[in-house]
Amino acid sequence: MSIATTDPRTGQVLKTYEAMSDAQVDAAIERTDLAYRDLRSTSIAQRGRWLEAAADLLDAERDEIARLMTTEMGKTFAASKAEVTKCAAACRFYARHAAEFLADRPADASAVSATRAFVRYQPIGPVLAVMPWNFPLWQVVRFAAPALMAGNTGLLKHASNVPQTALLLENVFRRAGFPEGAFTTLLVGSDAVNRILSDPRVRAATLTGSEPAGRSIAQIAGRELKKTVLELGGSDPFVVMPSADVELAAEVATTARCQNNGQSCIAAKRFIVHADVYDVFAEAFAHRMSALRVGDPMDGDTDVGPLASERGRDEVDAQVRDAVDKGATVLCGGEKPTGDGWFYPPTVVTDLRPDMRMWSEEVFGPVAGLYRVSSYDEAIEVANGTSYGLGSNAWTRDAQEQERFATDLDAGAVFVNGMTTSYPELPFGGVKNSGYGRELSAQGMHEFCNVKTVWVG
Ligand code: NAP
Repeated sequence: MSIATTDPRTGQVLKTYEAMSDAQVDAAIERTDLAYRDLRSTSIAQRGRWLEAAADLLDAERDEIARLMTTEMGKTFAASKAEVTKCAAACRFYARHAAEFLADRPADASAVSATRAFVRYQPIGPVLAVMPWNFPLWQVVRFAAPALMAGNTGLLKHASNVPQTALLLENVFRRAGFPEGAFTTLLVGSDAVNRILSDPRVRAATLTGSEPAGRSIAQIAGRELKKTVLELGGSDPFVVMPSADVELAAEVATTARCQNNGQSCIAAKRFIVHADVYDVFAEAFAHRMSALRVGDPMDGDTDVGPLASERGRDEVDAQVRDAVDKGATVLCGGEKPTGDGWFYPPTVVTDLRPDMRMWSEEVFGPVAGLYRVSSYDEAIEVANGTSYGLGSNAWTRDAQEQERFATDLDAGAVFVNGMTTSYPELPFGGVKNSGYGRELSAQGMHEFCNVKTVWVG
């Protein structure tokens, strides 16, 4: 895949980049290793000032950054602006909470025959971050902000279709005051990852992306004995039970499915509805989905912009065609438009069966699968019946049922009566083939720390 900015509205290539040579990559690794030795000995307060400065730059340059993101991957301008603002807030959050998250944690000294015993959190070194294009700023910042505060340095291999956003991020951290090499963008294809991760100076890797990419990185890291955090795909269930506020559930379902033009790992993708409220939900949901305006993402009236790539749209279309060919019913959408750009209409498909791709695969576009179930147990069976386990949603006003969903849904997160969202304050990650490890919160920061036991006799 070439490294290029291509406008998803038109398919026009706007700017291409040469991949960095091995020698350039080696020099960047050398710089990041040197920067790590500096950064680890700076104070948390100093790193916090740099990160606050990065937040100020993001806020001050929000519209310009947002325009670039929309141009590179097609999310609406409003969504891009919200993403920049969220990144600035996350930088401030880690700048202000790192001292607390990294403070020595005392242990019961007498229980371990010591005069003093405690846990100290220290950085582990340069971390390779392989990132996707769908939240081109947020995915990187949610790794970089805690990692830099902990004293690690970052090497970013961003998705090949968002090179300008990748370069902009390096530029923001440098202008904010971080030392040269503390955060470096490597313009390389995925074929360079093996070599980079095999370099002894690179101590760990984090990947947000697809399952095949996760398997590949985990294999390399396994061979090299390096720590990894993997944030992979998801096919989140959205369960609606009889006691739910069905109208509100249908409204939130529409946003949960179509946020980011349907290209979010934690988008609700499978809507599992109890038979008692199925018809009311299906009608309200299909009505709201078909009312969404698809168009130019820079236009303030647009709800859903184009998909990020032609390949991505072809994949979504193939998944819908496969279901329809095998007997599924389309309640709205379902036809790939002709003309310029990689647009796809919000679509609801029902009468799905296990032999259809949509039953078990992640659909990375504004396409919802709708399932009718007749009991709590059947809802759980369908919800947990994929290889994924990222986020999940349950709609019920029954307090006992809320407790049961919290326990029974096989996922890294359960959101009850609301949409799955990532917050700097809460851990984020998956189980099963959605990956392992956690980002965000103190937990995320500790993933790339040496959790050192100190025992003093
Ligand atoms: P992708 O193909 O896996 O790309 C993601 C990143 O991995 C890109 O930088 C890509 O580089 C790189 N990459 C691809 N194959 C690789 C390999 N074999 N070895 C090393 N690096 C490799 O993912 P995508 O399809 O563009 O993105 C969508 C996927 O990401 C979906 O499955 C989505 O659910 C998942 N995702 C997960 C989360 C989460 O937090 N769990 C968040 C967002 C997205 P190139 O661009 O150069 O190919």
